[in-house]
Amino acid sequence: MAVFKPENVEDFYEIGDVLGSGHFGQVRRVCERASGTCWAAKFLKIRKSACSRLGLERSGVEQEVEILQAIQHPNIVTLKDVFESRAEVVLILELVSGGELFDFIAEKENLLESEAIEFMKQILEGLGFMHSKNIAHFDLKPENIMLSDKVSPHPDIKLIDFGLAHRFHQGEEYRSTSGTPQYIAPEVINNEALSTAADILSGLSPFQDETDEETLKNIIALNYEFDAQSFSMTSSMAKDFIQKLLLQSPRSNRCFCLFQPITRKQAANRNRSSINMKNFKKFNARRKWKMSFNMVLMCNRLVQLRLPCKGSSDPDPLQRQCESDVEDTESKPASLLRRRLISSS
Ligand code: ATP
Repeated sequence: MAVFKPENVEDFYEIGDVLGSGHFGQVRRVCERASGTCWAAKFLKIRKSACSRLGLERSGVEQEVEILQAIQHPNIVTLKDVFESRAEVVLILELVSGGELFDFIAEKENLLESEAIEFMKQILEGLGFMHSKNIAHFDLKPENIMLSDKVSPHPDIKLIDFGLAHRFHQGEEYRSTSGTPQYIAPEVINNEALSTAADILSGLSPFQDETDEETLKNIIALNYEFDAQSFSMTSSMAKDFIQKLLLQSPRSNRCFCLFQPITRKQAANRNRSSINMKNFKKFNARRKWKMSFNMVLMCNRLVQLRLPCKGSSDPDPLQRQCESDVEDTESKPASLLRRRLISSS
């Protein structure tokens, strides 16, 4: 069982700037008072009562902590410590200061396929390690693939956000419909029993459509094509690799092995192949815009959630019980949406 320290986190760490925010709270830079070393603290709101619509169940956070403790790997963010107060759990994590991989790439003039493969290799090493321990991430997406630092010319990949991750036990059937529409596997949408094979990722979602509903339909129908503009400079080996990842059934051996050039011609082709940066930059800008848009939607949902509490002259007892939660989140609207929508085993 993971140990959650009851002490006040601020007695040990000085709290600094916000590094990012997720559905359930903020991530802040913190500096350890004793050593001066900086870390990232993930503040997670905990649901106070069963009726509460706010925050996470403590058991979900315990799961995230236990999984992080089980997967210590150079390409996976490290968990140092956990603190717990009445309303919050704080995870002290390795500070990953290189930003998102996609932002790093979008700033480059050009990216060779061989460089992309080096990143891919590290992502697959991290993932492969998790999978060898029967743990699936279930929320693999560009925002959760970060780089170790901004100074090194070849920073390391760090996978983050294990909030949806799950450890499979022998013979267990696990279903979950949580995830991010563009990157979700067909078996998640179909509410089928899941396995680690659901951890698939493509940078430029080939299924992306006008609406989330259309996107999900495309995934189910395996409706995608290699858009001529985006893939004109991509080698046929790389396309073949992507096709093998995008198989409909998790049992059909989605390929996680890296594609190695066999012939000289293939090796030369790879060296000449590169990523279409113009398209990538466009895609990344659209992705960022969508993230901001989703944040606004979340805030609007928060406002809607709060209206009945405020407006009603005679709130029902359950609602009253939840009111203190609402006050707690005054300054953190993003922490309202539930991460685990439906999951069962
Ligand atoms: P989500 O709502 O996507 O599930 P979450 O609440 O689980 O998010 P994370 O995704 O873990 O939170 O973190 C939110 C953001 O905080 C990340 O996108 C990233 O920008 C930043 N962040 C998280 N962990 C770290 C870290 N170890 N070092 C630096 N920044 C981090």
